[in-house]
This record gives sequence, C-alpha cells and structure tokens, in this order.
Amino acid sequence: MNENRNKGVVIKMAKKVVIVGGGIAGIYVLRNLLARRDAVAEGLDLTLIKRERSGWVSTCGLPFALRGWYEIKRTEINEPKFFLDQGVDFRTETEVTKLSLEDKTVTLGTGEELRYDYLVIATGRTPSVPDAVAESELEGVYTFNNEIDAEKIEAAMGTGDAKNAFVRGRGIIGLQAAVAFATRGLNTTVLGGPPSLLPSSLDPDMGDMVKKWLEERHGIRFILERKEITAVKGEGGRVKSVVIGEGTAAKELPADVVVIARGMKPNTKLAADAGIETGERGGIVTDSAMHVKKKGGRSYLRDVFSLGDCTEVIDAITHRPRLSQLASTVVVQAKVVADNILSDINANPSLYSICEPCLSPTVAEIGGLLVGSVGVTSETAARAGIKTMSGVATKLVKARYFPGAKPLTLKLLFEAYTHKLIGAQMVGESTVAERVNELELAIRAGMTAEEMRNTERCYDPSLSLLIDVTIDAAEKAIGITPVY
Ligand SMILES: Cc1cc2nc3c(=O)[nH]c(=O)nc-3n(C[C@H](O)[C@H](O)[C@H](O)COP(=O)(O)OP(=O)(O)OC[C@H]3O[C@@H](n4cnc5c(N)ncnc54)[C@H](O)[C@@H]3O)c2cc1C
Repeated sequence: MNENRNKGVVIKMAKKVVIVGGGIAGIYVLRNLLARRDAVAEGLDLTLIKRERSGWVSTCGLPFALRGWYEIKRTEINEPKFFLDQGVDFRTETEVTKLSLEDKTVTLGTGEELRYDYLVIATGRTPSVPDAVAESELEGVYTFNNEIDAEKIEAAMGTGDAKNAFVRGRGIIGLQAAVAFATRGLNTTVLGGPPSLLPSSLDPDMGDMVKKWLEERHGIRFILERKEITAVKGEGGRVKSVVIGEGTAAKELPADVVVIARGMKPNTKLAADAGIETGERGGIVTDSAMHVKKKGGRSYLRDVFSLGDCTEVIDAITHRPRLSQLASTVVVQAKVVADNILSDINANPSLYSICEPCLSPTVAEIGGLLVGSVGVTSETAARAGIKTMSGVATKLVKARYFPGAKPLTLKLLFEAYTHKLIGAQMVGESTVAERVNELELAIRAGMTAEEMRNTERCYDPSLSLLIDVTIDAAEKAIGITPVY
C-alpha cells in the first residue's frame, strides 16, 4: 500500500500498473484490469505504452484484410481514445528504452521516467530477417507482424505493376500472405525448409495435403529446401528479384513484393537488459502465475509479469519450455496476470490463478482449406523421447448421401505406453475448429485410444456421421480395422 503519512493523515494512493506493449497481450491485460477496476479500493492507475499509433488491433484479422475481405482499418477494434476516455494513460508511438527493477521505473525514449507498483512486459516478437534483407533498403520488402506491415504489403500489391510475390516462411502467417498474393493474381513463390509445410503443427504427411491444395487451387509454387535469401536486387529503389542459395546453386527469382514471415524471435532485450531471466527457447522465463525472475535468481518477483509472444510456456506433453505465440494462449495469460495483480493488491489469495501447461490449440483458414492441430507432432514427441502410435483416417463429415458433404483427414497421436492422446492434426473444409477444442479436452482428460474408440458421439445425418472420423483414427492407432 502506498501511504502518505504527512501530518498523521494516511492517504491511500492508486496502485500504478505500467504495461509495456500494446499488442494482444498488453491490451488484454489492460481490458481485464479495466473490467475489474472496482476490485481495488484505492483505485488503479493504468498506463500502456506501445510503438504503433493504433489502439486495440486484431492482428489475426490482418491476413483476411489482405485478401480483400474487409479493410485493414476494420481490424482496429478500439482506437486509443476508447482507452484514454476511461482514464488510461495510453501512450502510442512511444518507445520504452529501459526498465529498472531496483528503482521500479520505466524509462521512455523522451527521457521521461514512469514509476510502477506493477510492471507487465508484453513486448511480443519479431520475424528473423535474413542478413541480405536486413541490409537492403529497397521498397517492397516487408515483415508481416502488425497493421503497419499489412498496410505496406497492401500498398505494394496494389501498385498494378506488381506481378511476382515471394514469401519466406512456410508457417501459417507466411501461407496466409501467399494466399493473399495469389488471390490478387500475383505469381507467388514460398521458400521454406524441408520436408513440408506448417512443421510446428503438422507432420509431413499432413503438411503435404496443404501443399497440394495450395499448388492446385491457388497456383502457389513452393521451394522447400535449406536455402536462404542471399541477395535482394532492385531498380529505382524498389525490389525486383531475390537470390536464394549460394554459388552455383544460387537461383534468382523475380519479386515485386517480398514478405518475411519466419522464425518469430521473442523481443526480450528490454527485459534481459534489466537482468530478467530468459530461457533456452529465447523467451522470458516465468512461473505459472506469469511472474518473472532475475537472471540466476531463485524466487520470482511478485510485482513484475511477462506474457505473450516474448514469453516461454511449458509444454503440457513434453514438460519442456517452448514458445506458443498464439493469441489463444495470450488471452489466458492476460487473465492470469490481471488476477494476480488484483490478488496481490488485495492480499487475497482466492483471486490468484495460474496458467495450465500449454497445448496450443491452433486453427487456420488457408485459402479455403482449414488446418487444425493441438498437442505435439510426431517430431516434437520424438525429440522429447516420447514413443508414439498414430492413426490417420479420412472420412466425410456428414452422411454420404448429403449433397456437398466434404472429407476431413484426421491424425491422432497416442503415447505408446499409456495409449493416452497427446496430439491431433487435421485438414478439411469444415468442422475443424470445434474438433480442435474437443481434442484439447480429450488430451487434458487423459483419454486413451480405447476410450476414444468407445465414446458415443451425437448423430444427425445432415450434421455428422454415425461413426465419426475420430473413431476410425483411434481404431487404426490400436490396430483395429474400422467398420466402413
Ligand atoms: C498476421 C498474423 C496473424 C495471426 N493469426 C493468428 C490467429 O489466427 N490465431 C492466433 O491464435 N494467433 C494468431 N497470430 C498470433 C498472435 O497474433 C500473436 O500471438 C499475438 O498478437 C501476440 O501478441 P503480443 O502482444 O504478445 O505481441 P505483439 O503483437 O508483437 O505486440 C508487441 C507490442 O509490444 C510493443 N513493444 C515492443 N517493444 C517495445 C518498446 N521497447 N517500447 C514500446 N513498445 C514496445 C510493440 O509496439 C507492440 O505493441 C497471428 C499473428 C500474425 C502476425
């Protein structure tokens, strides 16, 4: 409690929370605290600092804006005024240059120092830009990280002269950008490593289905080789081509717009400079209540939190640290940070909460194909020394006599000793998001392949199959031939 004991009068001061970062992580901490501001008798003095000039932007909506479904501006759900009107010191276009845990201060680029009672670090991530790109000053070469990037990409594809697009990165963001280019009629090439697409979510057999779809339906060309962009060439200040690979293996490809969407590195410099511990995956280390600790320290700091893409999570299957970098992970962390600030201020342990280890349920629409995953892939399991058995099944999602019934391919991974579900991947045209959420619960409940096989499932021929693809995949994993 801040108290002013001047002349024997005790004045309780509002607790000052400073949030560094105005992406989804920072904004959701702010929104949670605003919604529960009344829980603090002495009040909350809230400050948020971000580099962009926007308020609350749905980053996840940007790829669809690039496809022309709506304007980029529409993804700004609230402008800064919305937060300023609620008494928040909402500082846009502002750089934080230093955090001091000793003085409990945040220093801004202007030299101004802000004191805090609680500090929230939500500095996000930045794509890894190849050296040749970083050194280039050509127009038309962009990352795809926020609305500012989206505006530049949209302008570059809309010039009329743009005919060729080049995307570095075979993850969801890279593929969604590639679809946007292809939809707008640009010849589009994606460069990524072997063997297939979306390696953090899908095994190669499932990734190949996405590749085939994008090649056949959108004409996207893939180069899945261990090659990097080694030069960017241009004319009149604008990019015209990229060179990939070196020496005799080097290839030059025409490119009027280039997007780098690979290797999202956590932004940890501010935190690391302040002596906060970062971990083996390059993110800030926290406990399950999202408190940080000093490098090498044993205990976590009760008044400093970190969350979002700059922060490591603990994987629920491997129990190892990793990065999640999903909005769906961030919103849970934000709730926990707000809970624990309110719990600490009110000295009320019943308000305290923690994040469960992460399963990172993921869904993405990529050019009309829906891709979903939860838990580990075969490769992640193998790297963690977990032996698996798997079942893959393809089936329609409703009765075969219903017009327009579409197939879905589902792969289930079970731990070989316990037969417990540890991962699921799917590719189809419908029912993907709800299945990802269902299978997340099945993993958390510790369901085995046998239990999943013998589970009743709801049925109406216009909506589902009498024997769902999940049953078939579970049966195949334990060596039982599914009934057709
Ligand atoms: C194009 C795209 C589409 C996506 N789609 C999905 C999706 O469909 N589903 C999903 O779950 N996830 C999706 N994601 C991932 C999701 O958007 C991220 O996990 C989430 O936005 C991370 O939020 P963040 O606040 O941690 O980081 P960021 O969004 O990176 O925000 C970081 C903030 O910190 C600020 N900052 C950093 N350093 C400083 C400093 N020194 N001074 C001042 N401010 C600073 C930045 O200005 C920024 O405001 C997508 C991401 C992208 C880029």
